[in-house]
Amino acid sequence: MEWRDQLKSFVNSIERLEKYVNLTDGEREILESNKTVWGTTPYFASLMDPDDPECPIRKQVIPSKLEMQNKFGMEDYLVWKENRATEEVRPDSIARQYKDRVAFTVTQGCGIYCRHCFRKELVVDRSMKLDFNVDDGLKWISEHPEVRDILITGGDPFLLENDKIEYLIRKLREMPHIEMIRFGSRTPVVLPQRIDEGLKKVLGGYHKVPIWLNTQCNHPKEITEETARAVYDLMQCGVNVGNQAVLLKGINDNVPVFRELHQKLLRIRIRPYYVFYCEPAPGIDHFRTPIEKGAELIRDALRGHTTGLAQPMYVLATNIGKIPLMPDYYIVERGEEEYTLRNHKGETTKIPVIPE
Ligand SMILES: *Cc1c(COP(=O)(O)O)cnc(C)c1O
Ligand code: SF4
Repeated sequence: MEWRDQLKSFVNSIERLEKYVNLTDGEREILESNKTVWGTTPYFASLMDPDDPECPIRKQVIPSKLEMQNKFGMEDYLVWKENRATEEVRPDSIARQYKDRVAFTVTQGCGIYCRHCFRKELVVDRSMKLDFNVDDGLKWISEHPEVRDILITGGDPFLLENDKIEYLIRKLREMPHIEMIRFGSRTPVVLPQRIDEGLKKVLGGYHKVPIWLNTQCNHPKEITEETARAVYDLMQCGVNVGNQAVLLKGINDNVPVFRELHQKLLRIRIRPYYVFYCEPAPGIDHFRTPIEKGAELIRDALRGHTTGLAQPMYVLATNIGKIPLMPDYYIVERGEEEYTLRNHKGETTKIPVIPE
């Protein structure tokens, strides 16, 4: 099925979902009363376990009654997180935390409406309305020569038509201060059919301003032959592919799954980039772990235990930028003359302290 047909057959009704899974009474009840946007592609739905309600794919797709609980999530989270109430006047589409790079939101459509989405207010609940006028965003960028890196996001920008994507890339490349363009898209994972000949033409070729892509893959079950092919095709176009996973309770917050995810990403040429702590957005408390969890997983599942390339940086995304949360277990002691350092097996070694 080509990508447009995948979207035409979008699995967003009980009737369509039942082709893939045997719904539990609880799931059926919540879907019948549900008011949020939910759903995914037939391709991604086909990866769900028909009988296991704990299936990691199923939990990312099917709403839960736990979304109604909100003890730790912040109201108006995106206004805070994306600095929308600060003095600098920017179009809705531009979110800024850094001097030299911005996030450029171009659509609210996705190939999956992730239950854990931190942009839920915009993408899933639609309680926040933004103006996605691309030309206003482009104009703002053209007037800010200090910005050198544009992160095109959404929603999922690859749900736009090729001519629109081509237009965005062309306009950005015409600005002398833009050094690189990044896309954030889950399509290689949820809609790999999207990486077709037409899009390859739009993205491909040797250019002074390169295109980078980060996708989101949270569980090894999401890694298939189709995704492997899509990643290979992107790389053949000169597009590097990285992963930004979200640490999700009950989905990937254990050592074997966390390690398998990162190893399997490398097997299909995706470089792990970030693992995000599940942000304090509203209605996603049930996916959130204690903050230490991610650093513990890096310590116990990845660092020293597997290939160095498989190591993402564990970060908390905040209104003042992303804050790395790395394990600090390796410094055992900071003496006058020596540091004692520990490795992943608990062995220690010493290095000299160098005076300033
Ligand atoms: C995540 C993000 C970026 C990019 O951060 P990197 O650490 O460079 O990947 C830029 N702007 C905003 C608003 C972001 O949320
Ligand atoms: S694909 Fe991204 S923007 Fe869309 S629902 Fe999932 S996490 Fe949110």
